[in-house]
Amino acid sequence: MSTPVVENVVIIGSGPAGYTAAIYAGRANLKPVVFTGWQRGGPAGGQLMTTTEVENFPGFPEGLTGPELMERMQKQAVRWGAELFPEDVIAVDLQQRPFVLRSTEREVRAHTVIIATGATAKRLHLPSEAKFWNLGISACAICDGASPLFQGVELAVIGGGDTACEEAIYLTKYGSRVHLLVRSERMRASKTMQERVLRHPKITVHWHTEAVDAYGNGKLAGVRVKHNQTQEEWDLPVGGLFYAIGHTPNTDLFQGQLELDAAGYIVTRPGSVATSVPGVFAAGDVQDHEYRQAITAAGTGCMAALLAERWLAEHDLTQELTPTATPQTPPTTSATPPAPPADPAFDPEATIQTGSYALRKLYHETDKPLLVMYKAPGCGPCRSLKPILEKMVAEFTGQMYFILIDIEQDPEIAQAAGVTGTPTVQLFQRKERLREWRGVKPKSEYRAAIEQCLAVPSR
Ligand SMILES: Cc1cc2nc3c(=O)[nH]c(=O)nc-3n(C[C@H](O)[C@H](O)[C@H](O)COP(=O)(O)OP(=O)(O)OC[C@H]3O[C@@H](n4cnc5c(N)ncnc54)[C@H](O)[C@@H]3O)c2cc1C
Repeated sequence: MSTPVVENVVIIGSGPAGYTAAIYAGRANLKPVVFTGWQRGGPAGGQLMTTTEVENFPGFPEGLTGPELMERMQKQAVRWGAELFPEDVIAVDLQQRPFVLRSTEREVRAHTVIIATGATAKRLHLPSEAKFWNLGISACAICDGASPLFQGVELAVIGGGDTACEEAIYLTKYGSRVHLLVRSERMRASKTMQERVLRHPKITVHWHTEAVDAYGNGKLAGVRVKHNQTQEEWDLPVGGLFYAIGHTPNTDLFQGQLELDAAGYIVTRPGSVATSVPGVFAAGDVQDHEYRQAITAAGTGCMAALLAERWLAEHDLTQELTPTATPQTPPTTSATPPAPPADPAFDPEATIQTGSYALRKLYHETDKPLLVMYKAPGCGPCRSLKPILEKMVAEFTGQMYFILIDIEQDPEIAQAAGVTGTPTVQLFQRKERLREWRGVKPKSEYRAAIEQCLAVPSR
């Protein structure tokens, strides 16, 4: 079957909205093309790639991790014929028809476009934020509030808008007290919300107060805060810190081409996901500043695909391209981001490699074992472990790779890998994680695991 010159539907984004749209469009024989994203708007697989447990997605009563959920969605999309390009879209022209989209690697034309580029929760970038992310600091109270980490302890929320108030009230179900840190002398939230917060016996509002840093030992134990008028600083001992300082929708590509609201979200018709340009649909967090959940993103992804299908039919543009239910092997797994664009500095002959490019490339392209060490610049044990592992892997030159990842330089890959401290060492082979060691372990343990891998003949 030849590749069509103009695609039926191109989907931008591979979060719950993008993959759900791909599943529906695939099942309608539209052979959707999906630009999964690479760096520009977060990792392929979307925001859930940066979280641990997802407990509220229907159909998984025991819960599952965000990357697992996204990997399942990806497989389902591929099974129904979606073609995935692990690339960022860098330019779109929605004024001409067919629409034109340019990624880092190619240009495609499409009769319909589904935008599912998501939104990014704003972070404060406190000095110790990365250390306590998912270990006490969160940007989603609704997602994480019920975690055992937050039961019966004091919690803090940063922000002064409706979301911050809602999250503070929500968290009173779990925490013994909730501190709301507001940086000025008033809140932006609606009057009703403010009153609910101010009247709540379990909420304390701290005016003119900003977080300076977080502290703890392994998990969050408190926040260093400052009164921004007197400059007085003190420690607020809390087991949870929730950011509610807003989201940035990933819509810079569409400025001037689609109607956006004042906060930059794509405006869709009430009760629909149609945008201001006929044939262009928007699904998920990119058009939703209210619910921002995986299930609502998936729901609107479904709506977008159904409307795209209808639009193609109405305009007599549908090209039925594949038979349905053709099981396919996914070209990538969401748990580790897909193959990257070329990096001229990469030397496939070197046993010791550095950085996320090498990891992503080798993860997809080699059958040899990959020993990956996640380290941080200030980590003393990392300094002692690294030369030991380097010496050990030299004995296996040509048979394996050793990849060093600096979690400050590659925080997304560290998060996707579930790294919560350094050093962490993981052993992969054929896209499967075989072992993980947290902290420094006896050399013999790493060696035995590598030898075991090498004893298994390559396919
Ligand atoms: C830490 C955390 C925990 C959460 N936990 C839960 C939970 O437990 N339950 C729940 O229901 N919700 C949870 N959420 C919210 C949920 O993740 C989002 O509502 C959901 O992911 C939105 O899906 P989406 O498809 O709209 O966008 P996203 O998941 O944000 O995906 C956007 C996609 O677009 C891609 N993209 C962006 N720009 C481009 C571009 N230019 N070119 C190509 N691709 C691009 C990105 O790479 C990504 O693949 C959580 C969110 C966070 C941050």
